[in-house]
Amino acid sequence: MEKIRNYINGDLVEPENGLYFDNYNPSRGSVYSLIPDSGKADVQKATIAASKAFAEWSNTSRSDRSEVLLKIADLIDANHGRLAEAESMDNGKPLKLASRVDIPRASSNFRFFATAILHESTEAHQSDDQAINMTLRSPLGVVGCISPWNLPLYLFTWKIAPALAAGNTVVAKPSEITPMTAFLLSELCIEAGLPVGVLNIVHGKGASAGQAISEHPDIKAISFTGGTETGKRIAATAAPMFKKLSLELGGKNPNIIFADCDFEDALKTSVHSSFANQGQICLCGSRIFVERSMYEKFRAAFVDKVNKLKVGDPFDAGSNLGAVVSKEHMEKVLGYIELAKKEGGKLLTGGERIVLEGELSGGYYIAPTVFEGLSFDCQTNQQEIFGPVVTLAPFDAEEEVIKMANSTEYGLSATVWTTNLKRANRVSNQLESGIIWVNCWLFRDLRTPFGGIKKSGVGREGGWDVLEFFSEKKNVCMKL
Ligand code: NDP
Repeated sequence: MEKIRNYINGDLVEPENGLYFDNYNPSRGSVYSLIPDSGKADVQKATIAASKAFAEWSNTSRSDRSEVLLKIADLIDANHGRLAEAESMDNGKPLKLASRVDIPRASSNFRFFATAILHESTEAHQSDDQAINMTLRSPLGVVGCISPWNLPLYLFTWKIAPALAAGNTVVAKPSEITPMTAFLLSELCIEAGLPVGVLNIVHGKGASAGQAISEHPDIKAISFTGGTETGKRIAATAAPMFKKLSLELGGKNPNIIFADCDFEDALKTSVHSSFANQGQICLCGSRIFVERSMYEKFRAAFVDKVNKLKVGDPFDAGSNLGAVVSKEHMEKVLGYIELAKKEGGKLLTGGERIVLEGELSGGYYIAPTVFEGLSFDCQTNQQEIFGPVVTLAPFDAEEEVIKMANSTEYGLSATVWTTNLKRANRVSNQLESGIIWVNCWLFRDLRTPFGGIKKSGVGREGGWDVLEFFSEKKNVCMKL
């Protein structure tokens, strides 16, 4: 069985303790490769390698750094098919989604930050005619990047690319649930000629390998994407050590649909924003509020469209939904479906595990599920489910829907559907979310700040924000 290896100091190596654990293919529920069960010793080796590499990498010219990162981007593109298949097999997502979204975005991440650093400028402040202040920026040193399983290579590279571009060296850990494309990336980094020790990838469990990264004294910053509880744990470890922290956490995003919207567009996009990637995108809109005058029409059309979605083999081009990521996650989502029923929710469609035939019979499939009749403040509407489950609810007034939308402890993203520009502005201003889409969803421009408020996170990724996060500012004031 294939053994994934750590990427440390430019080599693909076994974990120090020699231990491995099983990697599952969620579409079949079967083990297909082995993951290093790395711990402190591996993180220590990786950090030493990254510390050694820092002096040279941080002094490598921007254009040389850019060149090698662009080579990695080219190699991701050249290996597009292999990476997409690996992502789909490891995660359970439809191959067509991995091909269209995950893998192209991984190369875009490298390309975007490799070229951004060629266009960076720093600030200067002239203090009348007495002094001039120059603000210099330098990389932090060794930084830690920890990513989740839902968009594995997409989110892993979203952190690594800016960290490296800004001149840092990296110790990174992908999710233990979806490590395969990070492993393949390490092979591509070797092929691209990324200098030894600049990027180190340690595979293993969050509680051991992840924790060792957060608590390592020589790792200066942690960029983390994952659940709010894990974020809290990482902050509790890293904040007292005065590490810089970027936390991209959970969400419970509202999708607000006014009666004056473009109905067909709102309908089609809402089905997509509910069930893309089996609802396992932190930006999925899981609470759908529809203006009462249009509620019944929308509900009927929405449920009809959802009933036409095909749950099936991720490798089948006809499948709209594949498997959810793991058995544990499937059980968690099914648990939430039971909770919604207990809370008095009326099941409009779905609500069960789907057992496919043949080799797929052990896979973790869940029917896209829609509830109505739940109060905005019940647990189903307050807690992040992170699966193919949404609720529908009518609203009468703008103030009422804003209150319901803002009622959760999360504040990652929101979607607003209306053709009234004034309303779009007014509502967007009042929504407590870091990202708001008006008449669209998941339209991403990599230059824009990305992140959440409240328990959805601290800090912003993307554009200059993330390059700033991965650097330290120093002001030099010179008397004229
Ligand atoms: P987790 O928080 O369980 O894990 C995220 C990463 O942290 C994994 O690599 C995990 O390792 C690691 N980890 C776990 N425990 C620790 C620890 N003590 N110290 C350091 N690292 C640790 O999240 P999931 O992988 O389950 O991802 C789903 C969550 O991610 C959802 O809440 C979702 O909303 C959120 N998310 C947020 C996004 C955003 O941009 N705001 C984007 C995408 C997802 P391991 O897997 O080995 O346990």
